[in-house]
Amino acid sequence: MPTRRPIPAEYQIHDTRFLLIVVAGAELRHLHTGGLWAEGPVYVPGREVVLWSDVRRNRLLCYSLATGDVTLEAQPANFNNGHTLDREGRVIACEHGTRSVVRFETDGTRHVLADTFDGKRFNSPNDVVVASDGSIWFTDPTYGIDSFDEGYPAESEIGASNVYRIDPATGDVTAQITDMVRPNGIAFAVDERSLYVADTGVSHVEDGPRHIRRYGVDIEAGRVVGGGEVFATCPVGAFDGFRLDAEGRIWASGHLGVHCYDPDGTLIGTVRLPETCANLEFGGPNRTTLFMTATTSLYALDVGVRGAARR
Ligand code: MG
Repeated sequence: MPTRRPIPAEYQIHDTRFLLIVVAGAELRHLHTGGLWAEGPVYVPGREVVLWSDVRRNRLLCYSLATGDVTLEAQPANFNNGHTLDREGRVIACEHGTRSVVRFETDGTRHVLADTFDGKRFNSPNDVVVASDGSIWFTDPTYGIDSFDEGYPAESEIGASNVYRIDPATGDVTAQITDMVRPNGIAFAVDERSLYVADTGVSHVEDGPRHIRRYGVDIEAGRVVGGGEVFATCPVGAFDGFRLDAEGRIWASGHLGVHCYDPDGTLIGTVRLPETCANLEFGGPNRTTLFMTATTSLYALDVGVRGAARR
């Protein structure tokens, strides 16, 4: 049952710049609990809802901003994980169960956008972002084929965990980043000259990566152009999903909650949560509410900045 109990928001202020974007007196709203592994939130403005995945229960949940109700959107849900919207406002989903990236038309019709690279099935697409030219970029670690918990166990056909791009005109898939252990969360810088990608490789490699790297990207040319330096390392645990605000700050999920980084790489503040956070989304009419999926729950917090505009 939803608890909806308000909790005074708890912050760690690491830099005074964070004080400018904290809303005084804001309460952390506990909107839903009872999940097993909450992930992949997306705000759908046309419906005024937040959809999110309960990956291990193989279901998609829906929170209505108008009524506060949570309803079951789909079950089974192909062990879906990350979501985003495309330029037309259609939901794009990463499915572990089908090992594909799919699009839902406004009438609910499901359309597979990509399920193979070079004739081999993907591992289990995890998180996804759409660029201003309509190209779709996504990560493909193995979490959905590693065990029964989040999909169907299988060997990796590709033998690597890469970041891919789906061409908006042809649907062709190209591998863009091939030097990560387990790429996970993904987002573009506001100017789209950089692509940030989290690597949760510590799950598979002792002392492995638990950081976000920043790559150069040429959207027109449709490719990554160098870079790849470590932007930030997660203070506790590993970064999973993350989003940018309109001023280019990176809000990244982790064991303690959500860490906020200035574009210069400084950790300026942390929103503490009672559970490990896996992903987040800016939503609401002004995109000033942070919706956070954290283990069993969906939380919301108003912040003094807007989420980056969709392209
Ligand atoms: Mg993820």
